[in-house]
Amino acid sequence: MQINKSKSLFEKAQDFIPGGVNSPVRAFRAVGGNPIFIERAEGAHIYDADGNSYIELINSWGPMILGHNHPMIKEAVIKAMENGTSFGAPTAREVEIAELITKMVPSVEKVRMVNSGTEATMSAIRVARGYTGRDKFIKMEGHYHGHGDSFLIAAGSGAITMGNPDSPGVTKGTAKDTLLAPYNDLEAIEQLISANKGEIAALILEPVPGNMGLVLPKAGYLEGLRKICDREGIVLIFDEVMTGFRLAKGGAQERFGVVPDMTTLGKIIGGGMPVGAYGGKKEIMEFVSPAGPVYQAGTLSGNPIAMAAGLAMLKHLDSNDEVYKELDAIGGKLVKGIKSSLLKYQLDFSINHVGSMYSLFFTNQEIVDFETAKQSDTAVFGKYFQAMLQRGVYLAPSQFESLFLSTALTDHLIEQILTAHEESLIQALG
Ligand code: PLP
Repeated sequence: MQINKSKSLFEKAQDFIPGGVNSPVRAFRAVGGNPIFIERAEGAHIYDADGNSYIELINSWGPMILGHNHPMIKEAVIKAMENGTSFGAPTAREVEIAELITKMVPSVEKVRMVNSGTEATMSAIRVARGYTGRDKFIKMEGHYHGHGDSFLIAAGSGAITMGNPDSPGVTKGTAKDTLLAPYNDLEAIEQLISANKGEIAALILEPVPGNMGLVLPKAGYLEGLRKICDREGIVLIFDEVMTGFRLAKGGAQERFGVVPDMTTLGKIIGGGMPVGAYGGKKEIMEFVSPAGPVYQAGTLSGNPIAMAAGLAMLKHLDSNDEVYKELDAIGGKLVKGIKSSLLKYQLDFSINHVGSMYSLFFTNQEIVDFETAKQSDTAVFGKYFQAMLQRGVYLAPSQFESLFLSTALTDHLIEQILTAHEESLIQALG
């Protein structure tokens, strides 16, 4: 495979963009080699600047749940463009999408649109603080909530991939209000709460974390958090930027049957455009400006083109129950194939899977939290990643990410992926 154009683009990019990329993990530092510059995408495939094609298992880190360049979303965007790209004033589409989100996501009675997942989580914490009159919040180790200062403490995703889960530039003053807990451990939460009685505004977590690789909640864990938060008057926030509209129409909260007080959303909600949202109980959301005193705003929030893409996506998901059955079947087939090749070569690597998300960890430990996720052999992952890329399968360039499947994956493509997987496994372990 020849990637000369990607190589020269990356060389030039490094002169003008920090590290040559606009988001760190794209630089391939954790897996080695030159990042691939993408020119276009269609269905289950992306095409690079040198004309190579790859089967996609990231789907823009989650949003493209129906595959790339879906005709329905393309049409909605083009139609909206004809009327102008931004007004900075309310539109009917914003009302329509807000109503639809409240119908789809169990915890959301009112919702505010923003431009990214980062904005959604930053705003949700501010609102929870305003609502409770308390300053501190609990965050789980290895969970990623975007790059807001108070979340860059034991952060997952790119932060661990780059080896700096705590970022310089976050002041001690900010960091002291972020209390850290291990995921899947209710006792640790009880201890934190008793040491900070009456001072904790919120507990935020990815209900099914995907930013330290995919990890599943232990039976009773989410229910336990719900009970503790009710008892202590703590606002329970599910960050469903990844899992929202993916694990079910109503996200992980629908799939696992636990309803938080607030929810943050992103990725799928924008159909591939830069959109995020936060919402929750009416009495909490009434604290948001201009209804209430907690300030939050955005020049491009509710942008008409982004809303058109998001609305087309959500309407499709809301009216097609088959999509989730299809995604579960696709995930099931792929993971079954991966497991059978592990068995064939007597490798007991760990694989975590739910619906259309999965992660293969190069360790035989069960992965239940950040500590166990860090046991994975990232050097072997890097070799596996490169071997898959050479065979035309594009994975997330980090061990500490979930993969995201789309409905564009046919049985034939799944077979191709599994063949590449088996060969890559042998090569990586070589
Ligand atoms: N929260 C979660 C769970 C995420 O996975 C991400 C991004 O991957 C974010 C928040 C931040 O979203 P964005 O990258 O749109 O700012």
